[in-house]
Amino acid sequence: MNASGLNQTQLQVMLAHQRRAFEGEPFPSLATRRDRLDRIGKLLKDHQESLCAVVSKDFGHRSHHETTLLEIAPLMGSLRHTRSHLRRWMRPDRRARSIEFLQLSNWVQYQPLGVVGIMVPWNYPLLLALGPLIEVLAAGNRAMIKPSELLPETSALLAKLIGEYFNPEEVTLVEGGVEVGTAFSRLCFDHLLFTGSTSVGRKVMEAAAANLTPVTLELGGKSPAIVAPDYPLAAAARDITFGKLMNAGQTCIAPDYVLVERSKVDTIVEALSKEARGFYPTSAALEHYSCVVGERAHARLLQGLRECRDRGVKIVTVDIDIPKSGRSIPPTLLIDPPADCLLMEEEIFGPILPIIPYDTLDDAVAFVRSRPRPLALYIFTRDRSAQRKILENTISGNVTINGTLLHIAQNDLPFGGVGPSGIGAYHGHEGFVRFSHARGIAKVRIFNPARLAMPPYGRIATLLARFMSRT
Ligand code: NAD
Repeated sequence: MNASGLNQTQLQVMLAHQRRAFEGEPFPSLATRRDRLDRIGKLLKDHQESLCAVVSKDFGHRSHHETTLLEIAPLMGSLRHTRSHLRRWMRPDRRARSIEFLQLSNWVQYQPLGVVGIMVPWNYPLLLALGPLIEVLAAGNRAMIKPSELLPETSALLAKLIGEYFNPEEVTLVEGGVEVGTAFSRLCFDHLLFTGSTSVGRKVMEAAAANLTPVTLELGGKSPAIVAPDYPLAAAARDITFGKLMNAGQTCIAPDYVLVERSKVDTIVEALSKEARGFYPTSAALEHYSCVVGERAHARLLQGLRECRDRGVKIVTVDIDIPKSGRSIPPTLLIDPPADCLLMEEEIFGPILPIIPYDTLDDAVAFVRSRPRPLALYIFTRDRSAQRKILENTISGNVTINGTLLHIAQNDLPFGGVGPSGIGAYHGHEGFVRFSHARGIAKVRIFNPARLAMPPYGRIATLLARFMSRT
């Protein structure tokens, strides 16, 4: 729905329509839910080309391969997974009883919440709008989506397609700028999922708190990659380069900086440069190198690089032939930048990678622990005791061992941050549960055991109290 400039009242009317429709169908059948999921699949299949093209236009340039591999393919995988497990997820989940309550049967029924708000950032506009939508609809809810104003043509096309494949009481998409985002976050949703920056996440949570709307916040942060002494540097460099350069570093779980043994800094710089050159060997291959989105983000990255240069940080720019026009930044390595520079204080969100030397693995772990809890952590080691040491002594949203980004593509793993990188996880079954109300139900079968504990209290109540208070 083209709703730029929609005010709070108009948004409330849209929400009221959805809520009314939900009240008329508070527990959609498996068939209805599957039909909604199928329509997302059909929308993607029918319009894959135009979606790739419009995202690339809004980005200034975005590799079609990246849009397909990193957005459309995982959405299709998630649809297949959700569709095939949904029947089981919807079933009552039997729960245990203690001995004094053997006359009861207990279960959890996952009940739809109602209307869920989905706020979307610009960096993966399809995956982060339709991915949560899959689980929101699987759980039996209705959804209102607010995409980023930074990709106006993508948002307009998505709004049009959602209007064609869903009726507005099922799913609606609200376009508009920050003022619409602010009004959207104030709506009295039954759940609000926000994906975006930590600073805006704080504001969204504050707005939701006024309505006691529960939130899931999928935020950002600086995700470290630790290369342990035993791991082959060339292999680590290839995976780190892949994780960093996809979408030109504008990935919430991109490795933000690399911790490597001090004596190996030069070797890893060489290996990372070689991999980056290998990924984009000719001018033609640049079709696959994405732009930085937005003047502000581009200027911020250049300012961070200028600061490093002024402070005498060694900078290695990988000499690939990037497009001369537009907002491309070549892959750039910073060698041991100071902890208080902009690019070490803030999430980088671009193709710039600081290399931080460590003396012992314990120092590397201490470095990660001393910083806010990240969204992802990458560990490169084949040594199980080193894996265990790092896993047990750090906290992050998710982890991939001996690779990058892979955890996000696993349909049966929860995905989310911790502390400043997010609140709550979704994906797969965790997403279904996240967007449901887990309603615990106790049913008396033949005899209600509470009858034994009712006043006036006699000998049975005393014996029962003694039995129930046992240690
Ligand atoms: P952002 O926080 O600027 O914007 C996110 C959404 O919030 C957009 O829809 C925007 O319109 C809206 N918005 C902006 N200001 C608002 C306000 N004051 N009130 C209400 N809504 C407002 O984020 P972004 O720049 O689009 O995305 C980049 C950030 O998102 C990075 O920090 C990245 O790490 C994070 N991110 C996280 C995940 C994840 O799954 N954890 C995924 C992708 C991106």
